[in-house]
Amino acid sequence: MKKTFYLAAFLLFVSPALLNAQQLYMPRNITNAFKKRTRSLDGSPGKNYWQNGGKYDINETVTPDTKIVSGVEQIVYSNNSPDTLKVLVIRFVNNIHKPESPRGGYTNDNFFTTGLDIKSFSVNNQEYDVDSKNWGTVGVVRLKEPLLPHSSADVNISWSYPLSKQDGREGQIDSATFYVAYSYPRISVYDDYNGWDVLPHNSQEFYNDFNDYKLAIKVPKNYVVWATGDLQNPDEVLQPDISKRLKDSYTSDDVIHIADLKEMKDGKITQQNDWNTWKFDANHITDVCYAVSNHYVWDASSVIVDAKNNRRTSVQAAYNDTAADFHHSVKWAQNSLKYFSTKWPGVSYPFPKMTAFQGHADMEYPMMVNDATVSDTRRFGDQGFKFAQMVQDHEIAHTYFPFYMGTNEKRYAFMDEGWATTFEYLIGVAENGKAYEDSVYKMFRINRYIHDPSTEEDQPIITMSTQVSGAGYGNNSYGKASLSYLALKDLLGDTGFEKGLHHYMDEWNGKHPIPWDYFNCMSTGSGQNLNWFFHNWFFTNNYIDLKIDTLTRGKGFYAVKVKNIGGFAIPFDVNIVYADGQKASMHETPSVWKNNEEEQVFKISTEKIIKSVEIDGGIFMDYNPEDNVWKN
Ligand SMILES: [Zn+2]
Repeated sequence: MKKTFYLAAFLLFVSPALLNAQQLYMPRNITNAFKKRTRSLDGSPGKNYWQNGGKYDINETVTPDTKIVSGVEQIVYSNNSPDTLKVLVIRFVNNIHKPESPRGGYTNDNFFTTGLDIKSFSVNNQEYDVDSKNWGTVGVVRLKEPLLPHSSADVNISWSYPLSKQDGREGQIDSATFYVAYSYPRISVYDDYNGWDVLPHNSQEFYNDFNDYKLAIKVPKNYVVWATGDLQNPDEVLQPDISKRLKDSYTSDDVIHIADLKEMKDGKITQQNDWNTWKFDANHITDVCYAVSNHYVWDASSVIVDAKNNRRTSVQAAYNDTAADFHHSVKWAQNSLKYFSTKWPGVSYPFPKMTAFQGHADMEYPMMVNDATVSDTRRFGDQGFKFAQMVQDHEIAHTYFPFYMGTNEKRYAFMDEGWATTFEYLIGVAENGKAYEDSVYKMFRINRYIHDPSTEEDQPIITMSTQVSGAGYGNNSYGKASLSYLALKDLLGDTGFEKGLHHYMDEWNGKHPIPWDYFNCMSTGSGQNLNWFFHNWFFTNNYIDLKIDTLTRGKGFYAVKVKNIGGFAIPFDVNIVYADGQKASMHETPSVWKNNEEEQVFKISTEKIIKSVEIDGGIFMDYNPEDNVWKN
């Protein structure tokens, strides 16, 4: 009901203004999507919007002795596009381990594997002779019969690949603990603005369709499997009292130790068949992954994520008993899920589960995070735990972007990393107080960007993520993007910002939004045309640098002229100290830059003598803070 009202208000009052307002640059392929009405200028999916997807039924076996993963899968792939598909583009990210694959950075011998070996491949019962030997992270299979619009294909694949010795986002964590992600060949995204996604995986981010999954994992006895999705058969794979503990955790607020180290070592956890097959279901989700260990301990609890419907999410952690920080993991996750569901973004956690697993990746996956332990309290003291909690908060925040909102992280990493960094900051303020969190955010997220000497640092944020590298990639994806979201929050106020953000999230969850959909949705949802702001932050070479140019005294006032040297439309405080020692402060939102992005004159009405004036952007760190101060 609310949504209808905003939309109506937009159409009546804002729409004519939008037509005349500043237009944002759009590449030609994006313009075409709007012309074809797969996307619409009010920010919503267009009346011709479509997206493809599949039903994946995957069976995998992990053999700890050989470290080989083998699998068979059936994919029922739906072509919902108006186009006839002559090829299927198959993506297998783990081919990044092949020595021949291009990569984002240096690696070593332990990282290399032989990659994917496709053993059989059929489409609609027709066998294909697929040689995956020369595939990188993307392979193309030419279809014998084209896949017509609005039809589906039954694709069956069997394959195997080795787990790399050096684990990153996946691989062998130790000789009996494996993180198994990106483990199945999948059909790459075919979309309305770019066609097939054939960009190779370059060690950075992802872009995936929403699929329904049935995942069955076969492992030897005493190996536990933690995975994306609901465990369907706890009684078949766990001993009765362990299965009961797990089920109890689904309704408990207390942390329950499902398996301790002794029980794991004594064979008290899993059923004692030679092999157990663990079955999981997860629907309308962009990926599934899992982890396996025969000696990790296992905690679980749950938390209400939707108070209206009393909906709970299972929260679990699996880790080496020696990792002191992970003993707090479930409690921290309960806190994050509650915060994210009720505060920012203020959308109920959308999945039935979240598992934190101890690896080395500091990486998000749907319903899973794989984080390093930071529990060396001798080095970090309390800070070690705070840092561990911050990383876990960040990775869990990714649930919303890119897993609830199916963004194209490969092309536009700021659409997920920028938000995860923003939520990491906001929950950090709630956990640690503003002063502490401001200093952490400045140190980790902004300082390196604003003082980065490289000439590439000021590329517009809208630049495709695959076309910036190193610091340019990091700055655009994390710090700068996050600042743009926080600047917009300051500009609109919490209520206006929430209206815009929720409008965007309501319109595009489970779909594939692009930056222009975000821009247009924020304008529609907040009820004001924000193109000037988005142009300023996303389409320019701006950076952060304000300067007090002059301070002149008139009758009963001072006039402060502030120049925006860097150009970004940032909020800031004007801090005044009078000659009598009194202090005053005014806050300016980014709206002060709407009509003149270069300079503004602020009037301070007073009969008193001013001793000093300082302009302070806080977390919007200034490139040259020396000229932010005027002293009498
Ligand atoms: Zn992230």
